[in-house]
Amino acid sequence: MKRQIVLVGGGHTHLQIVEAFGRRPLDGWHVLLVSSERTTAYSGMAPGVIAGHYHPDELEIDLEKLCAVHAIPFRRGRAIGIDRRARRVELEDGSVVPYDLLSLDVGSVPATARIRRACEHALPVKPIGTFLGRLEPALQARADHARVTIVGGGPAGVEIALALHHRLGARAALSLVAAGAILENHPPRLGNHFRELLERRRIALIENAAVDSVRSDAVCLTDGRSLASDLTLLATGAAPPAWLARTGLQLANGFLAVRPTLQSLSDPDIFAAGDCAEIAGYPRPKAGVFAVHAGRPLARNLRARAEGRPLLAWSPQKNYLALLATGAKHAVAVRGRFFVAGRWVWFLKNWIDRSWVRRFTP
Ligand SMILES: Cc1cc2nc3c(=O)[nH]c(=O)nc-3n(C[C@H](O)[C@H](O)[C@H](O)COP(=O)(O)OP(=O)(O)OC[C@H]3O[C@@H](n4cnc5c(N)ncnc54)[C@H](O)[C@@H]3O)c2cc1C
Repeated sequence: MKRQIVLVGGGHTHLQIVEAFGRRPLDGWHVLLVSSERTTAYSGMAPGVIAGHYHPDELEIDLEKLCAVHAIPFRRGRAIGIDRRARRVELEDGSVVPYDLLSLDVGSVPATARIRRACEHALPVKPIGTFLGRLEPALQARADHARVTIVGGGPAGVEIALALHHRLGARAALSLVAAGAILENHPPRLGNHFRELLERRRIALIENAAVDSVRSDAVCLTDGRSLASDLTLLATGAAPPAWLARTGLQLANGFLAVRPTLQSLSDPDIFAAGDCAEIAGYPRPKAGVFAVHAGRPLARNLRARAEGRPLLAWSPQKNYLALLATGAKHAVAVRGRFFVAGRWVWFLKNWIDRSWVRRFTP
């Protein structure tokens, strides 16, 4: 009887695994993709959808179709647990999926734990597809001059603030709240560049301000200040999906702790990649670029484990290229200490992003 590799989550890494095993099937093995939604949204293009440069459909990758093309079965289902003794994944609908090798690429969720009433009154930017679907009606429901607050000063928060400004112009009063300095994981010069951009667009920037709670009409800061806000968006840092803690697998900062081979520290038959995983002792920022780069090593190591060959270690690069859209068809490219801005950067970003979606769109 054939054995089974189960891929849970249709994230950036698993798209490549479907492609790799579709092109070169593994003798004696089935591969199955289980994901909570039939489509997966490519986050790099989300600011472009908000700004009005793309239709929301343009960033969706249809997992069911992709799998069909590669003759890999697809099952829609949300994983909520792993029974490691019985070697099966437990799904939200009560069913189970048996595995011989398991790989997880289920992404992350916005870190909201410390913000009171965020679940009730704020719109988290992840999952991207759900966010974009809810943003449009939320904007339409607000009259002109809506006060919109974006919580989170990382790349996603900054890009979303600038995209909303491009889309709404003077029809909205935008504020961006950051717990520390904006873009603090990048060189300070980049932060200054974006501060100027925000100021020119009259987007109020409140740095070093932790949010205590969100109300339907305000964002309350821990220092007692409150900002009037008709619509609050949460682009706070990445947190691990809660169910990972119940798997009994070893964690690092709440994410699945893996070896450089992408195998769980607790179980060599369970692999993880993308935002949900962290190479123990070598944390990297939660960025799609690492999930993309993990594709090849994960494909190679899943194949090696299935065939009983030695696995190879992978070390994600220290410096990586980040491309940040700034509202209009203009963007900033950052790598290490250097950055460059221009319209041509947006065209480069557009080309890279569209090529990625096209690659997985049969
Ligand atoms: C607005 C915004 C813009 C961004 N722009 C960039 C950028 O330009 N460059 C960059 O490098 N990073 C960017 N990021 C970060 C990037 O989105 C993440 O790092 C990236 O999506 C992580 O990819 P992943 O493969 O780990 O998971 P994801 O892409 O999040 O995919 C996870 C998949 O798993 C599925 N899933 C989730 N839970 C379950 C479950 N329990 N069971 C089954 N399936 C499940 C989901 O439906 C989804 O298909 C941005 C983030 C945001 C919010």
